[in-house]
Amino acid sequence: MGFELKQHFQIESARFLPHLDKNHPCSRMHGHSFKVILVLRGKLDPKLGWLRDYHEISQIAAKVLDKLDHRVLNEISGLENPTSENISAWLYWQFKPLLPELFEVSVQETPLTECTFRPSAGDPSYP
Ligand SMILES: [Zn+2]
Repeated sequence: MGFELKQHFQIESARFLPHLDKNHPCSRMHGHSFKVILVLRGKLDPKLGWLRDYHEISQIAAKVLDKLDHRVLNEISGLENPTSENISAWLYWQFKPLLPELFEVSVQETPLTECTFRPSAGDPSYP
């Protein structure tokens, strides 16, 4: 294996989980400061000595994460049921064409929870 880069981002988003019992707190509209962690794997550029420029990753991430930041996730196509699982997979497939070295995406909805999506063999664009 070559190198692995991780870069963390944060967005603020609102959501509710529409398939839960009404007594479940997540069935109500509420907000999270979601942390998004991108993990890239690949080989070093022999001249530059890095896998990918963190600054470039930040610029790409800003474009993708703007689709979710300060928005109601349920209103976004593909995120009608915005669990951490669905958010991490949605983000993976948004980022993959822009960051071919992307290996996995993790989403933390609180500092104590984390969900990771990594495609399985057979999924489209399997790395
Ligand atoms: Zn929640």
